[in-house]
Amino acid sequence: MSSAPRAALQRPVRLEIEATCAACRRPVGFGAPLLRVTCSACGEPVEVATTTWAPIFAEIDEKSFDLPDTDGDTRVVEQATPEGKLSARYRVGAPRCAKCQCELSLVEPGTDDDPECAKCATKTTTFPAPGWLRTDLPTAMQLYAASRDSEARGGWFWITFQGTPPARREHHQIAIQAAIGGGPDRSPVPVSTRAPPRSRHRWEWYAVIAIVALIVVAVRQCGRRAAGTPESERDNAVEPAK
Ligand SMILES: [Zn+2]
Ligand SMILES: [Zn+2]
Repeated sequence: MSSAPRAALQRPVRLEIEATCAACRRPVGFGAPLLRVTCSACGEPVEVATTTWAPIFAEIDEKSFDLPDTDGDTRVVEQATPEGKLSARYRVGAPRCAKCQCELSLVEPGTDDDPECAKCATKTTTFPAPGWLRTDLPTAMQLYAASRDSEARGGWFWITFQGTPPARREHHQIAIQAAIGGGPDRSPVPVSTRAPPRSRHRWEWYAVIAIVALIVVAVRQCGRRAAGTPESERDNAVEPAK
C-alpha cells in the first residue's frame, strides 16, 4: 500500500471488548477504552482499571505490528479482573462505514470530528485515544466509531496505533547492546574539569620557583659583594705593612 516504514504508518485495528458485571455476572460490552460503563442489564457500574487496559492495548499494539494489512483473522487477548476478565477480540484493518461497509479514510491523529462516508454520507465519530492510555502507551492514537458516553454497548470500534511498540523498541535496544556491546565507559567527569586548574597551579609554581631562584641568586651576589669589599680593604691594609 505504501513504501513508508511500518512504524511511520497509522495501523488501524478493529476491537470488540467485553467485561463481566460484578453485580449480575452478565457480559458487558465496552464501546471504547472507558474506565467505567453502566451495565445495561442491572444498571450497576462496571469499572476497569487502567492497569487492566494497559497490557491489553500493549499486546494488541505489539502483535498487530507484525501482521500484514491483508490479515483477516480475529484474535483474542484477555486480562484477569477482580470480577472475571476483560477480553478483547481484534483484527487489523481500516475503519468501515456502519451503513455501507465502505472503508473510511484515516484522519490526522488528534482530530475530534464526525467525517462522512465518501459513498453514503453516513457520519462516523472519531476522537483521540484517552490521555491515560496515551500516557501508558504513546503509540495509541485515534479511535473510530467508539462510544463517547459510558453506556455499555456491544459491537466494535477501531483504534489506530502509530510508531514502534514500546516493548519492541526495548527488545531492539537489548539485542543491539548484546550484539555490539555498550559504548566504552567514560572516565570520571572530574578529570576533565580538574585538569585546567592543576596546570594553572603548576604554572604558578614554576613562577614562584623562578622568583625564589632569582632572589637566591641576587642575595648571593649581594653577599659576595659585601664580603668582597672588606677583604680587599684588608688586603690593601695588610700589604703596606709588609
Ligand atoms: Zn449487571
Ligand atoms: Zn457509507
